[in-house]
Amino acid sequence: MPTEVSAVERAMSGYEQEVHKVAAKTEAQVQPTYAEMKAIADKVFAMPYDEAVEGVLPFYPYDGMDKFEDKPAEMGGPKEHSASMPRRERPATIANSALDFVNNTPLIRVDRLRAALKLPEKIELLTKCEMYNAGGSVKDRIAMRMIEEAEASGQIKPGDVLIEPTSGNTGCGLCMAAAIKGYKVIITMPLKMSGEKLNMMKGLGAEIYRTPTEAGWRDTNSHIALAIRLQKAIPCAHVLDQYKNMGNPMAHYDWTGDEIVEQCGGKLDYMVVSAGTGGTITGIAKKLKEKIPGVQIIGVDPQGSILAVPDNLNDEDRLKAYAVEGIGYDFIPSVLDRSVADKWVKTKDAESFKMARTIIKREGIMCGGSCGSAMVGAVKAIEQLGITEGRVCVLLADSTRNYMSKFLDDAWMEKSGFPLDTF
Ligand code: PMP
Repeated sequence: MPTEVSAVERAMSGYEQEVHKVAAKTEAQVQPTYAEMKAIADKVFAMPYDEAVEGVLPFYPYDGMDKFEDKPAEMGGPKEHSASMPRRERPATIANSALDFVNNTPLIRVDRLRAALKLPEKIELLTKCEMYNAGGSVKDRIAMRMIEEAEASGQIKPGDVLIEPTSGNTGCGLCMAAAIKGYKVIITMPLKMSGEKLNMMKGLGAEIYRTPTEAGWRDTNSHIALAIRLQKAIPCAHVLDQYKNMGNPMAHYDWTGDEIVEQCGGKLDYMVVSAGTGGTITGIAKKLKEKIPGVQIIGVDPQGSILAVPDNLNDEDRLKAYAVEGIGYDFIPSVLDRSVADKWVKTKDAESFKMARTIIKREGIMCGGSCGSAMVGAVKAIEQLGITEGRVCVLLADSTRNYMSKFLDDAWMEKSGFPLDTF
């Protein structure tokens, strides 16, 4: 090694030295071994962000989406995307991998629940059951889509490192796809999210770094900031970025939306979807509105989040902490077109967990907490709009698997001050 380099290295302390080594390596684009990747990631995680060393963090200016159809080329709109990724049916015989069981989820009528909730008999209540995706949530669809689009465009190749900030379900989907396809994964996830998701992703072979729940998205210690820092420091690392990746809403425009249209035989009056990144509601709504004239979309946003429109809906408990995982944000992701919803409804923790426990008990559908929120949103919309008949479909985003030690556990419910009774 040339003496000048050693002199520079000697002059630099720990982290700075590491970043320089890594920068040199990045230029060469050598895929790191797992151990090398982890060593760099551990160091970056251990050091507080220092602008003098790492440079300004290139946060993407997330600003919501207003023109899905005319998105600039770098994001792509339906025209560029749809033709390339047709939905694959689930194999009826021997499958090649678990990924064959992403997409094509059941639509289940939940009349026992409707009766328990005392909703009018002429309302046909349906649930789109996303926990039956192979990785346990609606986000398996976008994980597979984002990876396969990036592979098709040559952006990533097996052996590379995928880094994703997530509330855990996109993480589980990415880790599952990555295990099958041979990628390394680093997940950055706020501390609020459940240990079940953490352990699931660890089991799938990922490294997980937890960030403070209270950190705003642009704070330098947020899960989004950490993903950016890690991507800068690790060679052959990519952030597919579900908050701005058009593969996210497109998965739901091409796949989930089409499935619902087909399963309903083109007859649906209301579609109720909770929003996190907003990819699910945006993609489904665009497809349903194209195919089913008159269908109304109800968006569900937890109290504490600021996604609902009009903004004064968000006033109560604005930006305060809440316990339901996977929905709501303190910024408007670029894959969310909030205007697709004809009505937004706000929900609270206690009613959401009570409803999730009710769905499990009445229908045997093992759903997660945000599914309770979505169903509460449906009930509120039915009441507020005075709906007395018609077909209402509620998307249930994930599985109770993620919350065995949380809302499913009586002790956790009591400790958290939530009621144990069900509807
Ligand atoms: N529910 C849960 C449990 C989730 O993890 C997510 C994804 N963050 C959602 C709902 C919302 O999905 P989307 O990000 O597409 O809005």
